Amino acid sequence: MKVTIAGIGYVGLVTGVCLAEIGHEITCVDTDHKKISDLNKGESPIYEPGITELIKHNLAKGAIRFTTNSKQAYSFAEIIFISVGTPESDDGSANLQYIKEAAEEIGQSIRKNVIVVTKSTVPVGTNEKIKKWIENKITGRLKVSIVSNPEFLREGSAIYDTFNGDRIIIGAEDELSANIIGDLYKPFDLPIIKTDIRSAEMIKYASNAFLATKISFINEIANICEKVGANIEDVAQGIGKDSRIGSQFLSAGIGYGGSCFPKDTKALVQIAGDVHHRFELLESVIKVNNVQRNRLVHKAKEVLGPLAGKKAAILGLSFKPNTDDIREAASISMIEQLLAEKAEVFAFDPVVNGKIKALFPENIKLCTSIDEAITKADLCFIATEWNEIKEYPLVKFKDLMKEPFIFDGRNCFQLMEAEKFNLNYYSIGREPVI
Ligand code: NAD
Repeated sequence: MKVTIAGIGYVGLVTGVCLAEIGHEITCVDTDHKKISDLNKGESPIYEPGITELIKHNLAKGAIRFTTNSKQAYSFAEIIFISVGTPESDDGSANLQYIKEAAEEIGQSIRKNVIVVTKSTVPVGTNEKIKKWIENKITGRLKVSIVSNPEFLREGSAIYDTFNGDRIIIGAEDELSANIIGDLYKPFDLPIIKTDIRSAEMIKYASNAFLATKISFINEIANICEKVGANIEDVAQGIGKDSRIGSQFLSAGIGYGGSCFPKDTKALVQIAGDVHHRFELLESVIKVNNVQRNRLVHKAKEVLGPLAGKKAAILGLSFKPNTDDIREAASISMIEQLLAEKAEVFAFDPVVNGKIKALFPENIKLCTSIDEAITKADLCFIATEWNEIKEYPLVKFKDLMKEPFIFDGRNCFQLMEAEKFNLNYYSIGREPVI
């Protein structure tokens, strides 16, 4: 099928290359000229395992093209996906500015009947607005059908997830459109759940809110474990073996981040508030997460006293491993706290560099290796569990740091290993090794 995708970020690009891979004719539109020009050279604007190969492969076979010419790209598309950003507004609600702009451009440009599929995460009721925004700009008699098709990919395994997802949600206003979008996805051979538009919109928020709840729950259990002398790893394993609970999302740490959970949980609180329902459970999940992010720097101050003038290494900057996305990453709030304490910050991440430099242009030193970041450091924080960090030989912390004080926000190492190398090792939900 002829598909145009609006918004070529983490979601739009992955969707585009994967749909091209299964045989569709894809046009990708973005307002960012640099991004489009890089993509036309076969260069990915994001770090995502496997993405560059798929871009190059589909460019070479002519299955995908990248353009900033939205008018042309929308004019004769059979299906248009919207996957532009829906960032957080000041009041916590989802900002629909980019969605509205894309919808209006679609309305101005289409020359034939079209199905518009919203992949962006949008509050319940937004797809009805999208339809109006499009229709208000249409000249002539054209039919627009709206489909809500929320996205569940995880950055870092986005391509795998697209081919192996748990389900595809199709919320449509008519059966024909639902069936056409179902057929579009058929080659993936994944379970498809068809529903109405509002339920589809809610499924996305409820999924993210539930996962965030699981994370804040296990983090609270971890905080209690530390105080009662229990071990969160064993506790999580014991809980997770219960098939009603499941073992995923039970890794205690310094809280969730990224471009989805923080904004989507706040947006759902707003969505509930708009219909006069106070979502107290989710409010607590958010509060717990905010506290959790500050735990390690607090702990470091408790252990070492004032951090002013101390050299602090921070390992891992992306919000999770295998991505270059630093939106709402725990590392950022950690760096802000350390700078407020007047510590000297030496940061390392296997892929993140320019993005963190843009946030902290002068006051942190970006290192090119773990060795460089921890050499002569007074303390070291671990914010992201990249393999490179988990596999780093513990003996080197002892050899290279001034004093081996490690504050591990992702429980990367076994306590017995830390003991073996005489480290001062503080992690989450486990006894400190002193
Ligand atoms: P992103 O910020 O990486 O990309 C958005 C892109 O849209 C940008 O490249 C921007 O230039 C472009 N854009 C803005 N206005 C445009 C317009 N009028 N026309 C064409 N392009 C335009 O965003 P993302 O992370 O891919 O997220 C997109 C949506 O998907 C959001 O609603 C997000 O909540 C949702 N989502 C994201 C993920 C994820 O892991 N990133 C997962 C599931 C759902």
